[in-house]
Amino acid sequence: MSDTDTFLDELEALLGKPGLLRDSDAMARYVSDWAGESLGAPLAVARPASVEDVAEVVRRCNVRGIAMTPQGGHSGLVAGALPARDGQELVISLERLDRVRDIDPINFTMTVDAGCILENVKRAAWEHDCDFPLSLGAQGSCQIGGNIATNAGGLNVLRHGMMRELVLGLEVVLPDGRLWQNLTALHKDNRGYALQQLFMGSEGTLGIVTGAVLKLSPRPTQSRSALLGMPSVQAVVDLYSLARRDCCDLLTAFELIPRRCIELAMEATPSLIDPMDQPYPWYVLMEVAATGPIDLSALLEQLLEAGLERELVLDGALAASDAQAAQLWQFRESMLEGQRRRGEHLRTDLSVPISKIPAFVSEASDAIKALDAECEIIAYGHVGDGNLHFNLLPPPTMANEKKKAYLHALETRLFEVLDGFDGSISAEHGIGRTKREAYLERLAPTERELLEGIKTLFDPKGLMNPGRILPPR
Ligand SMILES: Cc1cc2nc3c(=O)[nH]c(=O)nc-3n(C[C@H](O)[C@H](O)[C@H](O)COP(=O)(O)OP(=O)(O)OC[C@H]3O[C@@H](n4cnc5c(N)ncnc54)[C@H](O)[C@@H]3O)c2cc1C
Repeated sequence: MSDTDTFLDELEALLGKPGLLRDSDAMARYVSDWAGESLGAPLAVARPASVEDVAEVVRRCNVRGIAMTPQGGHSGLVAGALPARDGQELVISLERLDRVRDIDPINFTMTVDAGCILENVKRAAWEHDCDFPLSLGAQGSCQIGGNIATNAGGLNVLRHGMMRELVLGLEVVLPDGRLWQNLTALHKDNRGYALQQLFMGSEGTLGIVTGAVLKLSPRPTQSRSALLGMPSVQAVVDLYSLARRDCCDLLTAFELIPRRCIELAMEATPSLIDPMDQPYPWYVLMEVAATGPIDLSALLEQLLEAGLERELVLDGALAASDAQAAQLWQFRESMLEGQRRRGEHLRTDLSVPISKIPAFVSEASDAIKALDAECEIIAYGHVGDGNLHFNLLPPPTMANEKKKAYLHALETRLFEVLDGFDGSISAEHGIGRTKREAYLERLAPTERELLEGIKTLFDPKGLMNPGRILPPR
């Protein structure tokens, strides 16, 4: 029996049979992501059911020099949670750590296991008239630990911020198996370095998050949504600036959607009906929400009138009920599925200053079209965060084996344009493996030195999620 077999037998004895998967059929679910990207062949999949078991698994891996891949809901889109192809990485799935530990509705905090699915966390908060305001398309599968590790944002960042602003305390198993516990529920705490912030966005490279204290908001008692037909991206940004000022700071979402996405949504969900009498080149999907006695419909109507008067808005549909609002938001969700069905394409999550979105969309579109007029550009995103998904779809006739090189050339050109706007190549999904080279090319030497120093301090053997963000050791 090999050393590895002995190691796995010992892990199985620790975790029980459901706690360690070794059979390739049973492991299949853990090697691919939402986009169908599949990397691997893990050594095995460990599914510890307690914090102590996570710590013991990590401790043993550290002693034996075994690489580890922390995994949440594998909805990440940069191959960070997928094990490598070499069969050397042990996937450590947090899915069995899914307990809501405590809710304090007066302190507006909630303590949860890292494996809790985001949607379940939101539901648990609602039961106490509170809200955990992180909202994203993958919320039915992504986990709080994954959200923390990727510093996730989503639809409501413009009002509530990203995970860095929504987490107060953390519990982390460090790469050598030690448990670092700082489950503080303090809203203000200025004692020295904020270590927990280091783990937010670290993509599982510094340790495995096992628990967190989340910051809650009051649950909105009312919300209103509207879909607006717009003539240009410039008009969208101008309307955003107006809405930020005129909506009493109650704006929770402001999404840019191109016509093509409305069509893709209707293709993916045939029950959706074209929302307006005629098509418009761009749309805004927005939401306002409040807890107190305020007339949100009047607020939206006034905004729509001001937008029409200034010729920023061409047409508008205000949802008259929650059911109608849900249908408008169904377009936002279904358009993602519509794109996914188009097969391999370049998915980006970049950001620029909000005021520069129109110039960026125009310049980047020209640059891509100059490379290939047949390439389909789909640019949508969270306007209030300056965050665009500037996605590029190869012509449908292109042979599959040509797509990788084609998309890489387009990405290189797109990022060159982005550099001219001092933008970020990752506003949401992180670096993982897929953006590592582009990220490293743009790192100043001092910054790289500091980052590598942090990694070495936490993980001197380089065993925790190797090759994500920084090169493997
Ligand atoms: C349809 C769709 C819509 C999306 N929309 C958004 C959006 O609006 N905003 C946004 O920010 N992202 C979005 N995403 C990306 C993705 O959902 C987020 O990155 C999410 O936070 C990942 O969570 P997860 O549990 O699925 O993590 P995984 O994909 O499992 O892992 C992501 C990374 O975190 C690490 N990790 C996971 N769990 C832990 C843990 N407990 N401790 C340490 N490291 C861990 C993994 O190793 C990996 O590097 C979307 C994805 C999809 C498929």
